[in-house]
Amino acid sequence: MKSKILVVDDTADNIQILNELLGSKYDVLCAIDGEFAIEVVNDNNPDLILLDIMMPGIGGFEVCKYLKNNIDTKDIPIIFITSKNDEISIENAYNIGGSDYITKPFRPKELLAKVNKELVLQEIQKELKYLSTIDPMTKLYNRRYFDQSANILINLNKRNQCDVCIMMIDIDKFKDVNDIHGHAIGDSVIVSLADELKKVTRNSDLIFRWGGEEFLILLPHTKLEGANIIAEKIRNSAEQLIININNKKSINFTVSIGLTQCDANYDFNKSIIHSDEALYCAKNSGRNKVCSK
Ligand code: GH3
Ligand code: MG
Ligand code: MG
Repeated sequence: MKSKILVVDDTADNIQILNELLGSKYDVLCAIDGEFAIEVVNDNNPDLILLDIMMPGIGGFEVCKYLKNNIDTKDIPIIFITSKNDEISIENAYNIGGSDYITKPFRPKELLAKVNKELVLQEIQKELKYLSTIDPMTKLYNRRYFDQSANILINLNKRNQCDVCIMMIDIDKFKDVNDIHGHAIGDSVIVSLADELKKVTRNSDLIFRWGGEEFLILLPHTKLEGANIIAEKIRNSAEQLIININNKKSINFTVSIGLTQCDANYDFNKSIIHSDEALYCAKNSGRNKVCSK
């Protein structure tokens, strides 16, 4: 698939020249002012922006600052392309998050090389982000991503005064599954449960592989009663799951679940401890249970 490049310039001739230069290799989008550029970015999520600085209305620097302050657009690389060649502007361009700076009149081969370099870097960055946040086996978020993002999420929910529940899920007697059927079958049990969790939860819920056969789900906009219904659904669907291990044999398994609603002060660490204690209560009361605290 072709990369999408947004060209922002208030001079139609410049847009046309860049369109001709880039059009054969990339999908080129155009905007003739800063305001429209922001709209195009929000609607089309381009892979790269070539941004003029001096434009009527919102200038290039403002557009850059706006996009870099927005979580959805902050990672889109911006190359400034401008007739301003003073040192202060160049310094400012990098300080506000610009990736590169090209002065007009530009050299076409240099521009193409810089565009290509940014797109390659962008791909590497996406790959790194994926590798550092996703558990390769289950394709769920990993513990590392939880540690990085939990505080940000909780603060956001606190600001919006939104109820958040934490659900801790652990496969029952999983050591026996490994011991009896082998590690590979154990792995497929973990993956099957992960797939089931994706099916049962909403898009706004965040599912993490917390440890080996343990999962943690953050449920925003959810009170304990609602979370309890989802937990029962998970407990029940895990119990119904059948894992085929060969033509003749299949196994099933159960999970125990601990639930807690974040306390009024959003003391997140305390809430995690509570959900863990609730999980132990579920284990101690016979497993294949949901407990809340
Ligand atoms: P309980 O009902 O009390 O939770 O018992 P359990 O046997 O599930 O608990 P325990 O914590 O003793 O065992 C968890 C086992 O999970 C031990 C470990 O070898 C296994 N395990 C952890 N990660 C993986 C994995 O990625 N794949 C497989 N197959 N096993 C794993
Ligand atoms: Mg277990
Ligand atoms: Mg465990």
